[in-house]
Order: sequence, then C-alpha cells, then structure tokens
Amino acid sequence: MATSVESSISAGAKYEPVIGLEVHVQLLTASKIFCSCSTRFGDPPNTNVCPVCLGLPGALPVLNRKAVEFATLAAMALNCEIRETSIFARKNYFYPDLPKGYQISQYDKPLAEHGFIDIESSSGKKKIGITRVHLEEDAGKSLHDGFVGAGETTAIDLNRSGVPLIEIVSEPDIVTPDEAYEYLTRLKEIILYTGVSDVNMEEGSLRCDANVSVRPRGEKKFGTKTEVKNVNSFRFIREALEYEIERQIEVIEGGGKVTQETRLYNSVEGKTYSMRSKEQAHDYRYFPEPDLLPLVVDEKWRAQIRSTLPELPESRRKRIVSDYGITAQDAHTLTLTKSLADQFESAAKAAKNPKRVANLVQSELTGRLKAKGLEIEQSPITMKGVASSADLVESGTISGKMLKDLYDLCFDRGKDFPEVYEQEGRPAQSRDTSAIEKILDEVIAANPKQVEQYRAGKKTVAAFFVGQVMKASKGQANPQLVNELVAKKLG
Ligand code: ADP
Ligand code: MG
Ligand code: ZN
Repeated sequence: MATSVESSISAGAKYEPVIGLEVHVQLLTASKIFCSCSTRFGDPPNTNVCPVCLGLPGALPVLNRKAVEFATLAAMALNCEIRETSIFARKNYFYPDLPKGYQISQYDKPLAEHGFIDIESSSGKKKIGITRVHLEEDAGKSLHDGFVGAGETTAIDLNRSGVPLIEIVSEPDIVTPDEAYEYLTRLKEIILYTGVSDVNMEEGSLRCDANVSVRPRGEKKFGTKTEVKNVNSFRFIREALEYEIERQIEVIEGGGKVTQETRLYNSVEGKTYSMRSKEQAHDYRYFPEPDLLPLVVDEKWRAQIRSTLPELPESRRKRIVSDYGITAQDAHTLTLTKSLADQFESAAKAAKNPKRVANLVQSELTGRLKAKGLEIEQSPITMKGVASSADLVESGTISGKMLKDLYDLCFDRGKDFPEVYEQEGRPAQSRDTSAIEKILDEVIAANPKQVEQYRAGKKTVAAFFVGQVMKASKGQANPQLVNELVAKKLG
C-alpha cells in the first residue's frame, strides 16, 4: 500500500491547477477620481471627504484627467490595447463602507484589454495574458480595531472612498503558485517603473484576489474556482494558493465537489476558510453610469501618454547588459527599481570602468547591506559613491584592501564614500614638484606616441599623462600640480 505522502504526490500529479489573479492598484493622483478631495494615506479618519465621495444625494462626479492618464499609462506598460471610448458602469452592492450603494467601475467596455506580462517560469519564458485593465473608485475602509471603543463597534473611514484604482485581471494562464508569485513580482516592478502607483501592499495600494481551480491533467474544461481575498503579501498569496490547491484536490479525491466561494487566508495557520458564497456578475446589476459621459481617449491623447512611457525593466536589463558589459545578474540587481537603475546609469556613464562599478555593488555592497538588513536603496554608499571608489581603484590610487576598509567605515558611520574618503582615506598629497617632475619625465619618455599626438594638437591627451603620473605616484601627487606640470613640459 502507498504511504500517505506517496498518494498525495500521485494525486497532485493527476491534477493541474489553473490560477487567475485580480489585482487592484491605487493610482498616485493628488486628488480622488470623481472629486477634489485629497488621496493622502494616513490622515485622520473622515477628514478628506465631500458630498461626492460621501455619496450624498444630488452630488455629481467629475472625472479626474490625471487618473485616466495614469491608468492608460499602466495599461500601455502592460502591453494592452487602449479602447478609444470606454464606459463607466455602476456595480451595485450594499456594504457599510460604500455609501452610494454602488461602486463606479467599468464593465463591458473597459479602458484596456488584451495585454500580457512576460514571466520566467520553471519551464522557461512564458507570457501571462491580461484580460483587462479598467478604472474604478475605491470604497471606504471598515475599522474593526485600533480606535477608541474597538471591540464593541466597527468604525467607517471614508478617506479612501473615491481614491482611483485600476483593476488588472489576468487570463487563467498561471498554472503554479510560483508562477503567480513571479507574475505579481513582475507586475509590481512594471507599475513602479511607470510611477503611477507606489504599489505598497502594507498600505493597501496593491491588493490581490487569487482565483484558483484544479482539473484532471489533460482535461479541457476548467474546474470550479474559489477566490482567496485579502491576502497581504506575495509570499502569503503563494502559500494560500498551495494550500487551496491541495484542499481542492482532497475534496475531489474524496468524491466531493468544490464549491464556488470566496475564502480568506489565515497566514498564522497557513489555511484558507470559507467567507461567503461568490456573487455572480448578474447579482451586481451593472448598468451604464448615467452621471458620467463616455470616456474618450483619442489617438492624440494616447500618443501623448505613450510618449511618457519609460523604458521598462525587461528591456532596460537587456540594454544595460550590452551597454556596460555587465552580467545579467548584476543588471537584475541594479534595475530593481527605476531610481536605482537611473542612479547606476548616471554613475556608470561618468565612471572610468562601468563594469567595475557593477562588480563592486555585487562583491562589496550587497553583502554589507544584507548584514545590516538594508535594501540597496537605503545604502549609505550611493551609486555615485561606488563609482568614485571604483575610479580610485581603477587609477591605482587606493588598493582593494583600502577600499574594503573604507566601505566598512561608510557602513559604520552611515556616510557615503566620498565623505569618508576625504576624512580617512585620501593619502597626503604631495606638492613636491621635483619628485612629480621626475615621474612625469619617465612617463613622457615611455610614451613618445602620446607626446607626438599632444604636440600635433590633440590636447585631450593631457589627461592620459595626468592619469599615468597619478598612478605611478599611487595617488600621492596633487592632481592640480600634475596638470600644470604636464602643460608646461609638453607645451
Ligand atoms: P468572476 O466573475 O467570478 O470574478 P471572472 O471571469 O471575472 O470571474 O474571472 C476572475 C479571475 O478568475 C480572472 O483572473 C480569471 O482568469 C480567473 N478564472 C476564471 N475562471 C477560472 C477558473 N475556473 N479557475 C481559475 N481561475 C479562473
Ligand atoms: Mg471578478
Ligand atoms: Zn470628495
């Protein structure tokens, strides 16, 4: 007889999961989608509200142009087709934090459709389809604890009511919890690069509902899905999916049927629990929003928005590898966020040897950051600092050992490299003219070709001589003095 472990593995192999993700992302507009209230997170409850977002009778919504531009930009970054004329729709349901009794969303004519995200899966590169990206308003927030009187009552904060959201719905193309994790990681990265959201799960500016079903391997028809809601990290989403897949397989293997329902994940127990049976679309009684005109994003406007699309992480990585001759892994580390990639590139462009800058990040920076529990963006040594240290090693001014010691000091003091180098590392500079002249004479004698070039008018060769003297003096010579002497001797 098979052991329970073996039988669960063989049951796992018999079934294939199908996963589709619905991701809500708050847009970083200053004001709400249909009124001019602030979207600021963390303000005292119910201070950023007005008749529109309180849902008072007679108040009319006015669409925020910036929200449309941000949503369109995100949809473009996700390779979607933008619909010229999209329609807002009322999604009717009752909930205490939804004062109007309906949410303004989009239904059968969403802003964007037919996109995709490239992910790296265990079987190689894979495209995950994006069904749609639509605009909608956020609801308020129910506070169950953390306020005076908690435990007896639930309070409602309507500051979030009317904050602009995009919902990004994936095709059911994801087949493992790992792929779901990878999809979310890529999605977050892309949205961050566009700058339309800070996609911060802790503050709720990215929220994900995970739909999952299983079907016998080879079966064409999808199984019945469940939807896991309110999971607050990508890691927990992966865990919740793993649990849910096993649970559904057990239900089916036990002769039962999976019920279509919404479930909640308890991350302490690592289990999901039934919350409520799932609404069907017809329960929402969608109909076109009579208080808003059709949204028209015409060709001219689309072109204008497209022109603000930044280079996205995938292509940037490829380009950085070829532009600076660094490894794919280095490129990955250095492009985790747009601002880091920007910093690296501007530092690398100015550095003598960009490859050394990338190497130092990998060999000297990441380990020290890890030891301190810091993200690369919190590093005391900036990319500019790394580049300046790389130049000093490159010119022979400091040794590798000196660099390591200086990096340690930077981390101890929380100071950037140039500052610490000024204080500690800079070797006393020599203004000993005769000693420098002697070195320069040797350099001149050893490089007749460059001397000829210089005398033929190529004055930029001076930098070469200065560099050689600095190197030969181990950085001891005063660079300004060297400059003067080079000009004098060759001129
Ligand atoms: P609902 O109307 O229940 O919200 P949708 O058709 O809008 O369902 O799909 C919601 C998400 O669930 C999408 O990401 C979709 O890809 C995914 N999905 C649809 N059917 C299944 C299924 N049988 N198993 C897993 N995911 C599914
Ligand atoms: Mg849905
Ligand atoms: Zn308002």
